[in-house]
Amino acid sequence: MFRRSIFICLLTAITILSGCFLIAHKKENPVTRDFFAMDTYAKITLYGTEAEPAAESAKAEMLRLERLLSAYDTESETVLLQKKRAAAVSEDLAVLLARSISLHKETGGAFDITLSPVSKLWGFPHGPYHVPDKAEIKNALAATGMGAIRWDSASRQCTLDNPRLALDFGGIAKGYAAEKMAAVLKEKQIRHGLLNLGGNIKAIGTKPDRSPWRIAIQHPDHKNGHLGVLSVTDTSVVTSGDYERYFEKDNLRYHHILDPKTGAPARSGIRSATIVCEDCTTADGLSTALFVMGPEEAAAFWKRHKEEFQFILFTQDQTLYVTEGLLPLFASELSITPVKETLIK
Ligand code: AMP
Ligand code: MG
Repeated sequence: MFRRSIFICLLTAITILSGCFLIAHKKENPVTRDFFAMDTYAKITLYGTEAEPAAESAKAEMLRLERLLSAYDTESETVLLQKKRAAAVSEDLAVLLARSISLHKETGGAFDITLSPVSKLWGFPHGPYHVPDKAEIKNALAATGMGAIRWDSASRQCTLDNPRLALDFGGIAKGYAAEKMAAVLKEKQIRHGLLNLGGNIKAIGTKPDRSPWRIAIQHPDHKNGHLGVLSVTDTSVVTSGDYERYFEKDNLRYHHILDPKTGAPARSGIRSATIVCEDCTTADGLSTALFVMGPEEAAAFWKRHKEEFQFILFTQDQTLYVTEGLLPLFASELSITPVKETLIK
């Protein structure tokens, strides 16, 4: 009798354990959300038992930030600040203003959130497009300049000293949104997920099977081709490129990333700039700024900040530059030019 009960106990234990084993190895289907926000396609991919409500909360967070930051919504906080020209701003706007001001300083002016009069002149973002003459550009540039933003972080008071000044967080807002969505997901105990906000990617943890996420970096000349594939966990990967938004006239391409010095689309020699670092807000701001800088200035900037980020640059002459920290993580069929600290002046 005693031996029989031991046998039954063992059999039950084996059945339970093999059940657990099967559950652990069953391929989990992700919960996804595809939607349009901040003028781009957004995709949320999540795993875990709380993935369904977590995806809803993350989507709601992006839509909340869109309402707050939009340069077109007449009720957005950004537009209201422009109208009033002085206001105490929300915590989100405060973070973005402070971050934009420090990025402007760090990047020698390449990152600039006051360019929207110039963007509009060219017809960005929605057209009709137009190639302006020098006088038009000069007039639009007079309405720009981050020196006209007075910012007091203690009181969160922002004053715009130029009455024509308009704020455009288009070069940083999606990265910030990804970061805030990731914070919402962390609260909901999500450990495996991927946010893709129009090329602004935030990888949460690993894939459910514990392998790294594989992120393809788009080839500027081939819609369905890629420059290579990055294998990453718990990080941000953000790309700015001349193929994202542009028009062509007389065989010349005019794209949406502007050089604040010239008031024209940046002709820096870069076709696409990808930044890899933990914080998605930083990655977004830097991808725009490095695109404006060009390869040499970008490499010198990276040398000074190499603990903070890594990059992949694809240039007009088809060179694929990859900083040394990414070399073990990046697989490409193209020839790679490594960017090493010791090679930069
Ligand atoms: P991204 O795709 O992140 O490089 O952002 C491009 C968007 O940022 C443009 O559509 C503009 O709204 C804005 N932008 C353009 N040029 C600049 C610049 N030099 N600095 C900051 N934002 C910019
Ligand atoms: Mg950007």
